[in-house]
Amino acid sequence: MEGSLLALLGQYISYNLEVRRILREQESSIKEEKVSQLVFGSVNEGIIVTDLQGTIVSVNAVLSEITGYTAQELIGNNPRMLQSGIHDKDFYSDMWKKIKRYGFWRGEIWNKRKNGEIYPEILNISAIKVGAEQKLSGYVATLSDISEQKKMESQLHQLAFYDHLTGLPNRVLFKESLKSSLLTAKRSQQIVAVLFVDLDHFKNVNDTMGHAAGDILLNEVAIRIKSSLRESDLLTRLGGDEFAIILQNIKSIGDPEMIAAKIIQQLSEKIDIFDREIYVTASIGISIYPENGDTYDELLMNADNAMYRAKERGKNRYQIYDPAMSHHLTRQFELETDLRSAIKRNQLVLYYQPQLDMRSGEFVSAEVLLRWQHPTHGLLVPDQFIPIAEQTGLIIPIGEWVLREACATIAHWQKEASFPIKRLAVNVSAAQFNNNDLVRQVESVLAETQCNPEFLEIEITESCLLPIKTNEFNFHEIDLKNKSQNHVYTTLNRLKAVGIRISVDDFGTGYSNLSFLKEFSLDCLKIDKSFIENVFLRKNDEAIIKTIIAMGRNLDMELVAEGVEDVQQLQFLIQNQVDFAQGYYLSRPMPKEQIEEFIKHSTWNKQKLVQIKQDVENSDNRVP
Ligand code: C2E
Ligand code: MG
Ligand code: MG
Repeated sequence: MEGSLLALLGQYISYNLEVRRILREQESSIKEEKVSQLVFGSVNEGIIVTDLQGTIVSVNAVLSEITGYTAQELIGNNPRMLQSGIHDKDFYSDMWKKIKRYGFWRGEIWNKRKNGEIYPEILNISAIKVGAEQKLSGYVATLSDISEQKKMESQLHQLAFYDHLTGLPNRVLFKESLKSSLLTAKRSQQIVAVLFVDLDHFKNVNDTMGHAAGDILLNEVAIRIKSSLRESDLLTRLGGDEFAIILQNIKSIGDPEMIAAKIIQQLSEKIDIFDREIYVTASIGISIYPENGDTYDELLMNADNAMYRAKERGKNRYQIYDPAMSHHLTRQFELETDLRSAIKRNQLVLYYQPQLDMRSGEFVSAEVLLRWQHPTHGLLVPDQFIPIAEQTGLIIPIGEWVLREACATIAHWQKEASFPIKRLAVNVSAAQFNNNDLVRQVESVLAETQCNPEFLEIEITESCLLPIKTNEFNFHEIDLKNKSQNHVYTTLNRLKAVGIRISVDDFGTGYSNLSFLKEFSLDCLKIDKSFIENVFLRKNDEAIIKTIIAMGRNLDMELVAEGVEDVQQLQFLIQNQVDFAQGYYLSRPMPKEQIEEFIKHSTWNKQKLVQIKQDVENSDNRVP
């Protein structure tokens, strides 16, 4: 730009000097042909020369190229014939005022070609003053067509402010727009909401179906979100699977929630990609101006925090920002840092909760439950740190540590002939089960601790068997016709081949199609404690327990009831012939030394169970 301006100025100066020289030489009016020869032919801008009245007296060839008019069509006319109609009267009168005052005008202007096309140009108009008195004798205009340059500028603008894939505004434009929305909102006391939308499990699509499928999905998601918004709302893509929305001038705090719910609903419909039905869900965080901040940074960060909270609370939901969240997130972050060194610092501890064999009345097995003795927060239970371990991948080394400790305990108790507990059950979360290393881990730990595999049980959850849930992408669906290629199937078989037992934990809470179970060789079903808790409160739960029991029997699996808190529950389980019971009524989880003491001096003995069984019979098979 600058270079061409300088060049142009240079041309003017030499042009003026040359004109003056000619005038001096000939002491006559402008010799048009001479001027044309000198300048007109040598520049690549269009040139128009007019007389004092503004009538065109000369043009160059470039001008004809730009405007489409021949010299004959132009000469004798007024340059007004090129006006596009875009600029108003004031614009031109202001322009002429300046030319009269300064002898020069330069600016960007829209003109019209002969074919009707309107185009932008840079126009310079100079007054031609001649003679010693500098008498005004006409005007010369040079102009260059900048439509190509404009096109490039608009492409650059597109690149800088819009997302290439979806065509939505990008993070830069989001920032600018939010800032300007906030300015307006401050001035007019409006409410603005920011929605941070993040797809759940998007990576799965990219990983399993390829990036092309991921791209289609993102476009479809953009369309669906947009359909849930008002004209005045701005949807932007921040990157990856993250979208942000600005809701301007909302009338009530309930509006953003309503829109978030609508987006979640819109996304819940299936999406067809490459002949597959895909279900996508999103987690949405909401922050509101002025409650949750009054700057771009604060509102975005708080909407992001709220989105994380929505993920933690199970995904496929929205969450309004709450200041307590920042505290929660800071704590989560601290815990994550601390957890990295928890094994090394010997802060992890195993607790053992015994399981009563309902036939013999003896504690024969125990579940291993992890605790973290945190230096400042005290003893933490799994719910407080297992999710972090899963998210960070720390669950793999932690899981291996648990396995090693548990196997060492088994080996130890094996040697104590009089100690009744021989079998231990270790929890394995889906993140561990899906890790290809699990079988190798089990094998090497068993070998290392010289533990008899038959006394080790692994508790998996239904979600391991059926990673597909209604709210996840369903292409994970297990193809039972193709078992050998199925991770779940092969992992279970390999674990069985090692000789350990496998049980399904928290049974009844997942989404499993019950008939599914028979496809796998599983040893035991653990009825989730929520059913036991409600067995006398909700008729439905009683029916569910009975169904689970019947099904377990059919499949030749043992049954464990967890969460037994009172004698009535135990009686119900006896009546329904459940094999094992575990719960606070019998014993709380305890560290190793304590459980050893507890078992040795247990008030539980076969006699007590016999008594309860008798009570059951006496009560005429009726449970209160
Ligand atoms: P879970 O496997 O279902 O374990 C049973 C949970 O119920 C334990 O909670 C236990 O303390 C609690 N419980 C036992 N009896 C009763 C009762 O009578 N009433 C009530 N209300 N609760 C009872 P805990 O120890 O907090 O463990 C929670 C969950 O954390 C476990 O549920 C398990 O899924 C997971 N977990 C525990 N240890 C590990 C581990 O080493 N690795 C992995 N991956 N997960 C673990
Ligand atoms: Mg368990
Ligand atoms: Mg359980």
